[in-house]
Amino acid sequence: MSKTFDLVVIGSGSAGHTAATTCRARGWSVAIVDERPFGGTCQLRGCDPKKVLVNAARVVDDAQRLVEKGVLDRVPVLQWRELMRFKRTFTDPVPERWSKVYEKAGIVAMHGRATFSGERTLFVDGESLEAKHVVIASGAMTQHVAPGDEMLMDSEGFLDLEELPRSLIFVGGGYIAFEFAHVVARAGAKVTILHRGARPLESFDDDAVARLAELTRGLGVDLQLGTTVTGVRKEAGEIVISAESVGAKHDFRASAGILAAGRVANVDGLCLERGNVARTKRGVEVNAYLQSVSNPAVYAAGDAADAGGLPLTPVAGNEGEIVAANLLDGNRRTADFRGLTSMVYTIPSLGATGLSEASARERGIAYEVHVGDMRDWYSTRTVAGREAFYKIVIEKSSGKVLGATIVGPHAEEQINVFALAIRAGVDGAMLREAFFAYPTGSSDLEYML
Ligand code: FAD
Repeated sequence: MSKTFDLVVIGSGSAGHTAATTCRARGWSVAIVDERPFGGTCQLRGCDPKKVLVNAARVVDDAQRLVEKGVLDRVPVLQWRELMRFKRTFTDPVPERWSKVYEKAGIVAMHGRATFSGERTLFVDGESLEAKHVVIASGAMTQHVAPGDEMLMDSEGFLDLEELPRSLIFVGGGYIAFEFAHVVARAGAKVTILHRGARPLESFDDDAVARLAELTRGLGVDLQLGTTVTGVRKEAGEIVISAESVGAKHDFRASAGILAAGRVANVDGLCLERGNVARTKRGVEVNAYLQSVSNPAVYAAGDAADAGGLPLTPVAGNEGEIVAANLLDGNRRTADFRGLTSMVYTIPSLGATGLSEASARERGIAYEVHVGDMRDWYSTRTVAGREAFYKIVIEKSSGKVLGATIVGPHAEEQINVFALAIRAGVDGAMLREAFFAYPTGSSDLEYML
């Protein structure tokens, strides 16, 4: 006998959790299914544990820079095992916390792999579920790029490393590789990044990335660009990564290798064809309401949906809300990505929101750009910052802020202020006049504008 629900949600990450709890709060019968512990990628294997490591490495870097100024007399040493123990105090309690939330809310929480058996039916480890509606929020998984690369660990393996390897090679030069590389470089490991493209962090502004790349090389990170990985093997306890660049072949060796060459929607194992759920290369194919284009009973949100947003936690949460609203009240809500923000948690961070200069140019928008070096600014010098750069894109006709990219010690909070300005349609002049507390990262906005 199958159990029947108004809604079955596949995946308990930011997208699935939001959709499930919102629909349950309006009285729907809801089941949430996850084949792994409840909590999803961000809380257990992504953003949150990562930022614990980044924050610790930042303290080391802060001290290093102050030692160079003679303000401190020594640089603290990262205690990797203790850092991992500290990290687990954030991740370990999550699954039980969510189980309790589901129990209290009256959501049926199930462990097991969900697969479609029909348009409105699913199997979860042999058990049959009938659903008036299904939300696919199954997230993303590491992309494989070369024969033998299953011998490399992925980001999850890295975040669970009990011992810090002496040397590490990252395959891929995206944000995950850069963030982890900045952490382990501060912990004393030798780091190599192999990136296929001519420049890393491809979605970010060229000038900002060039500065961050130079700073990264200055840490001793061997950043190899235009380098395509062709194979991975193990030799004498080492990882050997073969790669080609400008026709030449090279072998790179290290104690450990990390596959960080992108993530793809995790929908292959869902038997979508049995549910008549169409997909693209980027995930479940949805309309503007995040509803499957082929099966109206199915919606998708977060990394698993091909919905045009970025694979980021705030997007997943927002799409979970949109799906819930459309399920509960009919298809009305669509995504609005104005002021979407993307941050690379290197030390210092690189952040971007809104349109980059390149996208403004491509769209034929008449814009002006405010660009500058902030290394000599008070806010950078007081923290002995090494790099600080901004580029702000303003629409010529309206004076509205269209986009901002910042590298520097205060980038994380400055970018959030710009994100709000873009979302609210605030123009540059109004931002310049705001009474931001002085001296803070935000009070620099006046000079940037
Ligand atoms: P997920 O949180 O991935 O949840 C999907 C869930 O579905 C998983 O728990 C999985 O077990 C389950 N599942 C999959 N298939 C099935 C099935 N067939 N049956 C049952 N269960 C299934 N984003 C940011 O915004 N900021 C960051 O700093 C950041 N850092 C990151 C660092 C790393 C290392 C990684 C990997 C990602 C990071 N992200 C970051 C991205 C962010 O984690 C994701 O965009 C977000 O978690 C996606 O949420 P989701 O709900 O779509 O999927």
